[in-house]
Amino acid sequence: MTRRAACCCGKCTIDVDGEPAFNAICHCRNCKKRTGSAFGWSTYFADSQVGNRPTDVSVYEVGGSNPQQRWFCRNCGSTLFWKAAALPGHTGIAGGCFADNPLGAPSATVSNDGRCAWVGLPNEWRRSL
Ligand SMILES: [Zn+2]
Ligand SMILES: [Zn+2]
Repeated sequence: MTRRAACCCGKCTIDVDGEPAFNAICHCRNCKKRTGSAFGWSTYFADSQVGNRPTDVSVYEVGGSNPQQRWFCRNCGSTLFWKAAALPGHTGIAGGCFADNPLGAPSATVSNDGRCAWVGLPNEWRRSL
């Protein structure tokens, strides 16, 4: 199955084949600020599953202990995809950008020490950190 992730305005899209290698929500400060929400929904696909990258994007370089390159739409500002040094050979794509072709539920929750106390999660999700 091919799914398309798109930014808010629809100018930037990225197509992926198959299911994500990793599908998780993350409660770290970086994900909170990136999304403006209580947590980020991060999906990772092997680079071979990912089609052409959009060109109407700019990149934001994130330093620190988990360096990333994060691409966002120049028109609407949505973060659409990224590369994280921690997951070489994979492309991260914002789970919410698949709103028109929804992914399955995440299977993991990470950076749980930053989780907002009011966020409840299914017990069967794998927890790390
Ligand atoms: Zn856009
Ligand atoms: Zn995070």
